[in-house]
Formats: sequence, structure tokens, C-alpha cells
Amino acid sequence: MITTDVIIIGGGATGTGIARDLALRGIDHCLLEKKDFAAGATGACHGLLHSGGRYAVNDPEAAKECISENQILRKIGKKCVEFTEGLFVRLPGDRLQYRDNFLESCRKTGISTEIYSASKALELVPNLNQSLEEAVKVPDCSIDPFRLCMLNAESSEMRGGKILIHHKVIEIIKEKGICVGVRAEEQFSGEIKEIRGKLIVNASGAWGSQVAKMSGSDVPMTLSKGSLVIANHRMTNMVINRLRPSSNGDIIVPNETVSLAGTTSITVNDPDNLSISPEEISLISREASQMVPEFDSVRLIRSYTGVRPLLKNTSDSGDDRAISRGFKIIDHKNGMFSIMGGKLTTYRLMAEKMTDRIMEEFGINVPCTTAEKPLDGQDQLSGYPVSNRIEKLDDIICECELVRRSDVEKVIDKVGTKFIGDIQHRTRLGMGPCQGGFCTYRALGMMQEQGKVSDSESIRVLKEFLDRRYRGIRPVLWGDQMREEQLIEGIYLGILGLAEK
Ligand SMILES: Cc1cc2nc3c(=O)[nH]c(=O)nc-3n(C[C@H](O)[C@H](O)[C@H](O)COP(=O)(O)OP(=O)(O)OC[C@H]3O[C@@H](n4cnc5c(N)ncnc54)[C@H](O)[C@@H]3O)c2cc1C
Repeated sequence: MITTDVIIIGGGATGTGIARDLALRGIDHCLLEKKDFAAGATGACHGLLHSGGRYAVNDPEAAKECISENQILRKIGKKCVEFTEGLFVRLPGDRLQYRDNFLESCRKTGISTEIYSASKALELVPNLNQSLEEAVKVPDCSIDPFRLCMLNAESSEMRGGKILIHHKVIEIIKEKGICVGVRAEEQFSGEIKEIRGKLIVNASGAWGSQVAKMSGSDVPMTLSKGSLVIANHRMTNMVINRLRPSSNGDIIVPNETVSLAGTTSITVNDPDNLSISPEEISLISREASQMVPEFDSVRLIRSYTGVRPLLKNTSDSGDDRAISRGFKIIDHKNGMFSIMGGKLTTYRLMAEKMTDRIMEEFGINVPCTTAEKPLDGQDQLSGYPVSNRIEKLDDIICECELVRRSDVEKVIDKVGTKFIGDIQHRTRLGMGPCQGGFCTYRALGMMQEQGKVSDSESIRVLKEFLDRRYRGIRPVLWGDQMREEQLIEGIYLGILGLAEK
């Protein structure tokens, strides 16, 4: 049995952010995540460190939080944030009135703007729609959510925090009506562990209601699904937004070697039962290509979808986009708190407020320092771009993303993982055009060489990863991606005979 002060459920940005804050304030804690870090909305998001421009007109409070946190994360998370800056582009037909509102709202919420003529915008991003009217520059950035969570978790572990990934909370233990611990199931072995704590924090995002119910409580949430597509190369070095009220497919974000476009907004009931329809893919491609016409013909290598954990809309307009991106801490008055809503961009602020509340509960007065202290572990990470990391060509395990053998070895050694996805999230292995076709079996071989996966476990490990990989590729299977997928299928089903195993 593990005994601690605070149990955190959920290893997304919010949960890992709370773990870091608690660690810096000297509070013992244990974080439980049912999959790997960033397995929920955090890893399924656009990776946009909002300037707040997107919310300035309709949600000024969220916009103010975004710009303030944007400035903090630029300072504390230099190896997670790429200082791309962003453009809101106005295309023919986009209303001038909205542009004026936008500029005025940005001014009021403290978001710096600069108006660029069409020719200046095209100089910066040559493959923008040539008929754009103008663009407004804002301090948007691209952010790597996986790195962010891992660095937050590292700050916690360095100070004695216990971080258990692949541990699903299946029960909340109550005594005399108070939550005193949880039972969690290790997802590979099925082993059940008991963790006892003085307080529980439910930071499980879209699963917040499910987790709250385990303690007999409720969290009023609207689940809003958003889907995105990944193009096989970087089409812009700046974040591109459409200068109009928030709508489908109006953001393109450069992320290392690829470009992400999205998103949609569809209310769902179950965060575990998601699919991406062909209509969503067409809609995103069509809308993104209005801003960057190449999006219409580019090779899409993957699609993914996530669920925004939004606070229930009291106005009930039926439009998920109208729901505030603000966050809320709910005291269930039974030893458990839930923290819901917010954005990836505001995760640190959410963690600060949650930790303040915990400190109050414990009667301890230690101030928050997460806004000043850089995230730990950044020195060991490479910077951008990744390509300057290679010393010897025959050292490469993943050709698409130029991942070195030594990087993969380090992760296997440190995480001791039985999941190929854990290597992927920490190195970008398998994130390029072949989507792991050629590097998956190499990574598995290395896991076996290092004694982390036995012969009898290896087929299960391989199938788990390939199944997950295929779920993301399936919705964008045509053209070159289809041709490559047939080759990969030949390798795994033909040469390696995986279907019979
Ligand atoms: C499509 C989309 C695009 C977005 N784009 C952006 C963007 O560009 N910029 C931005 O700032 N925000 C963006 N957001 C919002 C942002 O992603 C979320 O607000 C934020 O990531 C939520 O983080 P979280 O840690 O609260 O939740 P999550 O990231 O969902 O984390 C919850 C975690 O809890 C775990 N969990 C659930 N149940 C259990 C259990 N029983 N036991 C253990 N663990 C459990 C889950 O596996 C998950 O990892 C986007 C959201 C979506 C859906």
C-alpha cells in the first residue's frame, strides 16, 4: 500500500501541473494515470499556446488568462514552446466589423496585435491564400503537450512525488463518508494497488463525471469532441487562424516536422467511444485549404480526436463553442476536489489555484513558484528543430523523425515500459509519414534486448500499438498514404505473419 498526502487522478496537463506545484511546495503526492501522460485532451489537442486572440471577442476572461499564461510558459518552458507567433488572416468575405471587434477586444485584454498587409503576410508565410485581404499578428505559439506533461512530472519525481502511469483508478475508498484512498489497476499486469491519501484531486478531464461518481459525487460537464488532421510536412512556420468567429477547421499549427489542422466541435456522451467521420476530415481539409490552399492536396498522415472537458453550459445555446474556456474547482465536501474546464494554455494557473486550495485545507502557507521556476529536465532535451540531433546515420531508428537509437534506449531504460506508445510520446518515434511502419518492430526488438518485454508478451505489445496506430490512419487512407499502408500491411501481416499469431 502507498500512503501519501494528495492523490491526483489524471496525467494530463492539469494533473501533472498540480503534481509539479505540490512538489515545489513540499507536499507529498501520488499521481495516477490510466494510460501514458497526455492520453486525454492534452495529447489530442492542437498544440496551440493561445495568445488569447481566439477568445478575445467572446470570452475576455479566458483571453486574459491565456495571454498571461502564454507569457509565463514562454519563460518557464523554452523546450516545450516554439516561438512561432501567429497570424489571424482575413479572407475575402470575412467581415470587417469582426476584425474591428477583434482588434478592440485584443487591446482591452492585453493581447498585442500588429496589422499586416496581404503582401507582408505573404512574405512571412508564402503559401497563404494569395487573395487574403490582410492579417493580424498575435503572440500565438506552438507547444508540445507531451513534453510539457513529462517535464511537469519530472519536477514532481525529482522531489519525491510518486507518478504511476498505466494505472487506472477503479474505485474510490470511502470511510465514514470521506474519501480516504483509491484502488488502481496496473494496465498490463492487472495488479491492483491501494493508495491512501488525505485528499483526492480529480483532474481526469472528460472522465471527470465518471471519476466523481465513484465517490458518489457529480460534475456537471458538456463533452465536446474535436477532431484534427496531420499533414506530412510543415506548411507554415507561424500559427494560422481565420479572422472570423470561431468555427470548424480554422486553425493550422506547425508542430516540429508536421502541420496540424482542425478542429470540429460535436457534443458526445462517452469519451471512450469516439470516431472520426469522413465528413469531419473533408470539412477540416476544406476549411484549412481556404487559408493555406496546399491543404487541399497535401498528404494527410493521421487524424485524431479528443474531448474538451467543458463546464456545463448554463445558457444552453446548443453551441459548444459558446461555452466559456474558464475553469472551476469543485469541492465535493467529502475529501475530494474536481478541477474541470480550462485550456492547455491555462493549465499552470489551474494547478496553482488547485494547489492554493489544498494548502488552505492543510493549513500550510507556502506560496506558488511555478510561474518563476523553469520546468526541470529541459537541459536534457534537444531544442527545435529536431534534425540537429543526429551524429551517425546508422544510429537512426526512425527515419521519418530522425530518432536515434540512444534516445530510444534511454526511454526504455528510464520508463521500463511495456508500451511502444510510451517511446513514441517521448521521442517522436513513429510520428512521421510511415506512422511507425518501419520503426515499430525495431523499437520492440530493443525493448526485448533490454529485457523489458518477454518473448511471450511481445505479440500483445506489438498488436496493441499497431491497432492504436491504425485507428488514426484509417480515416485518412487514400493516395500515397494508402500505398504506404499497403506496404506496411505486407510487412506485418505477410513477412511477420502477425495475423496468425
Ligand atoms: C480537439 C481539441 C483541441 C484543443 N486544442 C487546444 C489548444 O490548441 N490549446 C489549448 O490551450 N487547449 C486546447 N484544447 C483544450 C485542452 O486540450 C484541454 O483543456 C486540456 O488539455 C485538458 O487537460 P486535462 O489534464 O484537464 O485533461 P486531459 O488531458 O483529458 O487529462 C485527463 C487524464 O485523466 C486520465 N484518466 C481518466 N480517467 C482515469 C482513471 N479512472 N484513472 C486514471 N486516470 C484517468 C485520462 O487518461 C487523461 O490522461 C483542445 C481540446 C481538444 C479536445
